[in-house]
Amino acid sequence: MDAMKRTTFSLFQPVTVALIVVFWASAPDAWLDKAWVITAASIGTMAVVQALEFCNERHAGWRLNWREFLTDSFYLVLYYAVILKLETKLAEEPLASAKHALGITTMWAMHLPFVLQVALAMFLVECGQYWLHRLMHNSFLWWTHAPHHHITQLNALKGLVGNPLELFLVSLSVIALFDLSLNAVFCAVNLIVAVSAFAHANVRFDPPRWYSYVFTTVEAHSLHHSVGFKETRCNYANALILCDRLFGTFRRGEAQIVGQDERRRLLISEQLMFPLRPLMGMIKSNPDKSASAG
Ligand SMILES: [Zn+2]
Ligand SMILES: [Zn+2]
Repeated sequence: MDAMKRTTFSLFQPVTVALIVVFWASAPDAWLDKAWVITAASIGTMAVVQALEFCNERHAGWRLNWREFLTDSFYLVLYYAVILKLETKLAEEPLASAKHALGITTMWAMHLPFVLQVALAMFLVECGQYWLHRLMHNSFLWWTHAPHHHITQLNALKGLVGNPLELFLVSLSVIALFDLSLNAVFCAVNLIVAVSAFAHANVRFDPPRWYSYVFTTVEAHSLHHSVGFKETRCNYANALILCDRLFGTFRRGEAQIVGQDERRRLLISEQLMFPLRPLMGMIKSNPDKSASAG
């Protein structure tokens, strides 16, 4: 690898993080009223990371093909057209109304410097996601999360591939309870999208050590996608690997072979139906009872 390319892939992630912060710090107020701006910024960021897979591939076995691209695109549309809208209606708006009704105010948060507001927003979202994700690996909620672990290769959009119930659950957060500037919240969302895309991308990045200490990298996240159920119980953080370091679940290393259940790739229909498997298993193991009940 020539020096220019090495420097580019060493600095790409930290420079992107800095550019996203500068972009939202200087975003005009008129943009903040329009929901499509944050959606466009998020999808644009993911598209750039996806394009990088063709410039500096990590593993030939993870190379994007049409089947993978179409599946990933299906989930991209599902997430932005349906799941995020449901999350706003069913969780964020009721939480904001409850905050208003109960008279909860956190105006101190609004007066923090921009970068600290972004850091607070990211930490709130990531802490919630960390514990929910950890719970998913250690409870019946695994049935909603397992489809994400049945993916057999990593690519920039793979963070969005999973059962819709799981995608809805992991998009929940308590951020609506805090008074933060909209620029800071959008900046945190954009950063989480960028880092999650980096952490799933088939790209050979070589970031500075401080970056890997704070943010989730594809090394850390590929280890979370290891073959075998037990091996997945580390590196739960979506974007801030700092959470795993704080809560004692960080493991160093990386994996090239990813997947579950003998690495069987699921069809979209199987991913959608996966949480019903325990129920279907019970019906199958008890055919007489289910027949007489019917
Ligand atoms: Zn997981
Ligand atoms: Zn993942």
